Amino acid sequence: MRTGYNIAIDGPAGAGKSTIAKKIAKKMNFIYVDTGAMYRAMALYLIRKGIEPTDAKRISEVCQEADISIEYRDGEQVVLLDGEDVNAFLRTEEVGNMASYSSTVPAVREKLVELQRKLAEKADVVMDGRDIGTVVLPDANVKVYLTASAATRAMRRYLELQEKKEAADLEQIEKDIIERDYRDMHREHSPLRQAEDAVLVDSSDMTIDEVVERITALCR
Ligand code: C5P
Repeated sequence: MRTGYNIAIDGPAGAGKSTIAKKIAKKMNFIYVDTGAMYRAMALYLIRKGIEPTDAKRISEVCQEADISIEYRDGEQVVLLDGEDVNAFLRTEEVGNMASYSSTVPAVREKLVELQRKLAEKADVVMDGRDIGTVVLPDANVKVYLTASAATRAMRRYLELQEKKEAADLEQIEKDIIERDYRDMHREHSPLRQAEDAVLVDSSDMTIDEVVERITALCR
């Protein structure tokens, strides 16, 4: 029985979901659940095991052994992989690309969806991902489909990487984003799509605060 207030935010890579969801969580005193980080932690596990991104059979087997859990430290979500805090390793392009392959494997999704539902059951959460409004929390109180043009999203990722002093190639990032969108939207299981009862928000020409305001207004 669900007792928490749930806000579901879905959308493609780089639409600003995590930035927006974090701000909303802070403003409303909710817990922010970053489901992409869980898929990334699973991807990291598979990379460390030397599994090929396209080897769905091995992924299906090996994912069963991964022990992924979530903790909150100073309000920040910390993803633990076999007890190790792996947050610092999750936001690379290598891990993101692996995640977009391994997340197509049903065994991976089943395992992580269960963890996500448990987190949302009793707490007030803002959860972001690809299938939150459609699959994970179909009864969420508020559902948003947050998007932006591929060029805008690529530029945001590029600036994010530059800020972290990591190598970044804008053209390559945009190409990766378009490919990742395609995989996320066309996979057989839980493809990325707007839930029928989700509100569409295109952030291409909106500031972060405008998007936050728009979504908190939906909650009122
Ligand atoms: O959002 P983020 O870029 O961190 O997600 C990484 C990958 O994990 C996505 O490209 C997507 O394939 C997968 N994912 C998913 N379902 C979610 C969240 C992320 O399939 N709820």
